[in-house]
Amino acid sequence: ARELLQELKGKEDITVDGKHIKLYANIGGVKDVTSVLANDAAGIGLFRSEFLYLEADNYPDEEAQFQAYKTVAENMAGKKVIVRTLDIGADKQVDYFNLDHEENPAMGYRAIRICLDRRDIFRTQLRALLRASAYGNIGIMYPMIISVDEVKEIKKIVESIKAELTEKGIEYGEVEQGIMIETPAAVMISDLLAEEVDFFSIGTNDLTQYTLAIDRQNSKLDNIYDSHHPAVLRMIQKTIENGHKAGCWVGICGELGADMTLTETFLKMGIDELSVSPTFVLPIRKLIREMSTK
Ligand code: PEP
Ligand code: MG
Repeated sequence: ARELLQELKGKEDITVDGKHIKLYANIGGVKDVTSVLANDAAGIGLFRSEFLYLEADNYPDEEAQFQAYKTVAENMAGKKVIVRTLDIGADKQVDYFNLDHEENPAMGYRAIRICLDRRDIFRTQLRALLRASAYGNIGIMYPMIISVDEVKEIKKIVESIKAELTEKGIEYGEVEQGIMIETPAAVMISDLLAEEVDFFSIGTNDLTQYTLAIDRQNSKLDNIYDSHHPAVLRMIQKTIENGHKAGCWVGICGELGADMTLTETFLKMGIDELSVSPTFVLPIRKLIREMSTK
């Protein structure tokens, strides 16, 4: 079986009935690119940028971030690299943020909520990303979205940074912008959100947590934390339908995207992209090439 998988390198991610799927990989740092390339993923669908902040003793500056994003973009040589903006919170503690202790961190001050509050931090990251976009095919996605207003605000900030860069004669490339769909609120208004962005990436880890009201970090609840729950699957279905109506492509970057018992279900739902751990790329390529979307 191992050799058969190796033979799939260089082959297209295309279903029996001819639909091209973007089969991407998830990474948590610059070093992981080696494994993305070794497993022949067509791109990076989730680059968790938190590592830059977690590894540092102080806020990573624009230059350090720019170098990291640029290196990944260049190493991927024109293939898509979707970077998720900072997603820390009271559960992922970074000392220098001085976050308050919270009783309910999963529902607390985290991710885009911090970024829209601490604009300096957000603008630094966005500037680094836009500058790096001149060196490859970068996409930006935003975590924990719950409203259209958040997305409008983010887009305004991105536009103002682009204007600033243009004024200074600093180059940037075409950047696709998308959001993570990982709250039930985002699913329920996905028709409206789809009007604002280029793509959706479903974060099934958090989406399961918030849909089922089960703390994903509470091991006592592992037996009922069920990503196959019909409520979760219907959320995914609805997101795909609403995304497509407005011309967005829709992917999954949570763990469920690599669940091979669901690959056929996702293809039939109309999924456009799966972003998985690098080692799952070839096994899932094999499945995609054996399956139909009908
Ligand atoms: C998710 O929630 O599914 C996701 C991909 O984000 P993270 O696991 O980093 O919260
Ligand atoms: Mg998440």
